[in-house]
Amino acid sequence: MNYEPVIGLEVHVQLKTKSKLFCSCSTEFGAEGNQHTCPVCLGWPGSLPVLNEAALKLAIRVGLALNCKVAERLKFDRKNYFYPDLPKAYQISQYDMPVNGRGWLDIETRTGLGTRDSGLEIRRIGITRAHLEEDAGKLLHEGIADGSLVDYNRGGIPLLEIVSEPDLGSPQEAYDYLTALKAILQYLEVSDCDMEKGSLRCDANVSVRPVSQEKFGTKVEIKNLNSFKMVQKAIQYEIERQTEALVNGETIVQETRLWNDAKGTTFSMRSKEEAHDYRYFPEPDLVPFTLSRETVEEVRKTLPELPLERAKRFIKEFGIPEYDAYVLVQEKKLANYFESCVREGANAKLASNWVQNELLALLNAKNITIEHCAVSPHALAGLIRLVEKGTLSGKTAKDVLQEMAATGKTAEAIVKEKGLTQVSDTGLIEKAVEKAIAANPAAVAEFKAGKQKALGALVGAVMKETGGKANPKLVNEILINKLGTRSS
Ligand SMILES: [Zn+2]
Repeated sequence: MNYEPVIGLEVHVQLKTKSKLFCSCSTEFGAEGNQHTCPVCLGWPGSLPVLNEAALKLAIRVGLALNCKVAERLKFDRKNYFYPDLPKAYQISQYDMPVNGRGWLDIETRTGLGTRDSGLEIRRIGITRAHLEEDAGKLLHEGIADGSLVDYNRGGIPLLEIVSEPDLGSPQEAYDYLTALKAILQYLEVSDCDMEKGSLRCDANVSVRPVSQEKFGTKVEIKNLNSFKMVQKAIQYEIERQTEALVNGETIVQETRLWNDAKGTTFSMRSKEEAHDYRYFPEPDLVPFTLSRETVEEVRKTLPELPLERAKRFIKEFGIPEYDAYVLVQEKKLANYFESCVREGANAKLASNWVQNELLALLNAKNITIEHCAVSPHALAGLIRLVEKGTLSGKTAKDVLQEMAATGKTAEAIVKEKGLTQVSDTGLIEKAVEKAIAANPAAVAEFKAGKQKALGALVGAVMKETGGKANPKLVNEILINKLGTRSS
């Protein structure tokens, strides 16, 4: 029997507000333990929560971008459970009247596979809801000899929980969904989406069923997933584990499992609670209220161009391949950089390649982000123009880029200083070619015997002779001519 996975994701996004969801404590990361606390977020008797309007507006912003139905009537509920990181012994969340109801997110499902076919392949993934809730505190166990410590700085920070429909059919699709969602959140500027700081967290619900079966299998929730790659690996593992269990006639237990990245396995944490285990009931300190349509429309007016729209515009306006456009728009800052580069006069296709390959490699090697890169879009456009005009060969241009990053100088200045202009003087190249032929009789013989590869060694010799400055196209032509054979 064939089995298929059914996957749904729950993403917790920390909303970028100055103060917490129900009190005026700071949300700043990295403060000393329990410095950002007050009677409200510590749950002292008699204290009353007040909803943060900025957090509500950010939640609506996300809801609109995810095509959700924004509620007219809102209510907050208490989700009851006892754990030391929750001083009130309940979390204020939203149960049956969330701020954002049904919506959807269109994702491109092919880019992650590394293929470069043209044409976007869009899959629509349903959004069940996106509701507001407060974060819990943080328990610290490490390096503490007896007992544990609890830090309530994070307690009460606004979160938006975005729940997808079980529409995802593979670990790769889950990865693509998260990538697309993160890009949207970045474009909306609602969160810094930093997984290391915990401002973006993901839990995965995975079940497996026989292909012909309509009814879902028993679902398992996986927590403790700290990167998109981990989500992908954990889902893959869980699909295999559940399929094997079913094949062996075992039953799947509904439970919460944790991912152990070192071992590459999931393990059982606890049997899964049902909603009724939390005894949800309306938060009596926050009365239900009506959200005016004017407020929603006001928020809608401030929505920026979103990644998919931007990709479509890049394709239309700049004529770059769909694959390139989609990859570029995933990182807002990278897309901004590329767009500036084209506006500064760079050829769009070349700019797309340079930004995605050389510039990214440079940033990775230096371990810096694009805003700390010494090469401005204007400067990169200058370098690309030199490549386009044939003044610089691709190889030399890459070296020039390194120099630009190190010194902050323009490509033109570096080329002038070092006399790097590409040699397109056929006389000069001919001399170098003759020299290379004379010095490499073995390669010449091999080439004449039909080994195309041998040409590479000769081209290399010519490039060495000319200090890497010879125009490679001319070198090839002249070499083939001198060797008396056409390669085609
Ligand atoms: Zn507080």
